[in-house]
Amino acid sequence: MRGFGKYYRKTWEERLAILRDTFYLDDNDIAEIEHVSGNGEIGDTMVENFITQFEIPEGLGLNYVVNGKEYLVPMVTEEPSVIAAASNGARLVKAGGGFNAEVKSRLMLGQIVIENITDVDELVRKIKADQEHLLKVANDAHPSIVRRGGGARWLRTRILANDLLSVDLAVDVQEAMGANMLNTMLEAVANEIQCTYHQDVLMSIMSNYATESLVTTKARIPVSELAKENISGEEVALKIQQASRLAQLDPYRATTNNKGIMNGVDAVTIASGNDWRAIEAGSHAYAARDGQYKGLSQWYFEDGILIGELTLPLPVGSVGGSIKIVPLVKINHKLFKAKDAKELSMIIASVGLGQNLAALYALVTDGIQRGHMRLQLKSLAVSVGAKQDEISKLVNLLEKNKKRDSASARELLEKLRREEL
Ligand code: NDP
Repeated sequence: MRGFGKYYRKTWEERLAILRDTFYLDDNDIAEIEHVSGNGEIGDTMVENFITQFEIPEGLGLNYVVNGKEYLVPMVTEEPSVIAAASNGARLVKAGGGFNAEVKSRLMLGQIVIENITDVDELVRKIKADQEHLLKVANDAHPSIVRRGGGARWLRTRILANDLLSVDLAVDVQEAMGANMLNTMLEAVANEIQCTYHQDVLMSIMSNYATESLVTTKARIPVSELAKENISGEEVALKIQQASRLAQLDPYRATTNNKGIMNGVDAVTIASGNDWRAIEAGSHAYAARDGQYKGLSQWYFEDGILIGELTLPLPVGSVGGSIKIVPLVKINHKLFKAKDAKELSMIIASVGLGQNLAALYALVTDGIQRGHMRLQLKSLAVSVGAKQDEISKLVNLLEKNKKRDSASARELLEKLRREEL
C-alpha cells in the first residue's frame, strides 16, 4: 500500500496527513480523528501506528452490594441495555442482602513446553527433584515481585505426549495481572532447563487458562422479589432454575448464556483497564472444563429462595498494563473503591452474575425484546440521523409504529421534521 512504508516512524501529524493525502479520509474525518485523539500523547505510547482514541460509552452499574459493601461500577460497552440490566439484576440481589463473593486463590500459571523428549518419566523425576532450584531461578529473574511478598510458589509437570512435557509454574503476582513478569520468569526457567537438562524447549508462555485465579460469587433472592403481574415469584424462580439447567445441557444455549455474563464482565474489565481478551479466553475454556461447553452460572430454587452461583477465572490487576497510564482508568479505580485486585475481581464476577440474572428473568417472563426495545429504538433513531431533541419523539413514534426498520424510521423522522406528526 503506497504511502504507508515505515508508518510507525512517522509523527502523529504525519500519519494523519498521509491518510488525507492518500484520499482515504476527507477533512471532516481528519477533524473527527483529531478531536478524539487527545493529541496522541497516551495512545502513541500504548499501541503501534496510532491514529486516534476509539470511543466507547461508559456508564455506571448501580445497586451493587458485594460482601456487605456498596459499589459504583463503571462499565464500558457499546451495547444498549447492558448497564440497565446489570443494575436491575443487582437490585434484585440487593433485596436478598447482596452478593457473597470469595477468591479461592490468586496465582498466575505459565508453561514451559519441552519437546523431543526421549524418556519423559525420567525427565519428570529430575524436574520434581529440582523443583526448589527452578523456583529460585524464576524468582531471581524478577526479584521485585519477591520483595513485594509474591514470587514463584510451585511447579507441576503434565505429560502431553511421550515426547512433549509441560512444566507449569505458579506465581503469586500480588497486585498485577502478571503476564509480563511471569513470561520473564518462564524464559529464565526455560533457559535453565535447556542448559542443565539439555532438553529442547518449544515455547515458554503464561497460560490464560487461569485455574488458580478462581473467583466465586453467590446471590440469594427471596421469591417475593421476582413476582410480576401475571406470574408468581415461585414460578419465575422455577423457570430460571430450568433455564440454568438448559444451559448445562445445551451448548447452543450455554454460549448465549455466557455471552450475557461476559456483557457485564467485559464492560467492567475494560473500565478497570484490564485485559478483557485474557478474561474471555479463560472463562470460555473454564466453561468447557468437563469436556462439554456449559453455562458458567448455576441457579436453583430452595425454600422460597432463588440461589445463583458463578465461578470465573479472573486474573485481573490493580496495577500494570494500562491501569496507571490511562486517565479515565485511574478515575474508574477511584469510583470502584476496591482496595486491591482481589476485591476488584469479586465485583467483576458479581456483575457477571447480576447480568445473567437480569437476562434470565427477562427471558422467562416478558421475553428479551420488550425491555431492550426502547433502547434499541433509541439506537435506531440515532442511526437514521435524529438529533438530540428529536430522539425521544422519534422513539415514541417508532413504538407506536408497526414497522421498526431504518426505512420507516427515516420516513417518520422526515415527517417529524415537516411537522406532519
Ligand atoms: P506490567 O508488565 O505492567 O507489570 C506490572 C508491574 O507493576 C510489575 O512489574 C511491578 O513493577 C509493578 N507493580 C507495582 N506495584 C505492584 C504490586 N503491588 N504488585 C505487583 N506488581 C506491582 O503488567 P503485567 O505483568 O501485570 O502484565 C499485564 C499486561 O500484559 C496486560 O497489559 C496484558 O494485556 C499484557 N499481556 C497479556 C498476555 C496474555 O494475556 N497472554 C501476554 C503478554 C502481555 P516492579 O515489580 O518491576 O516494580
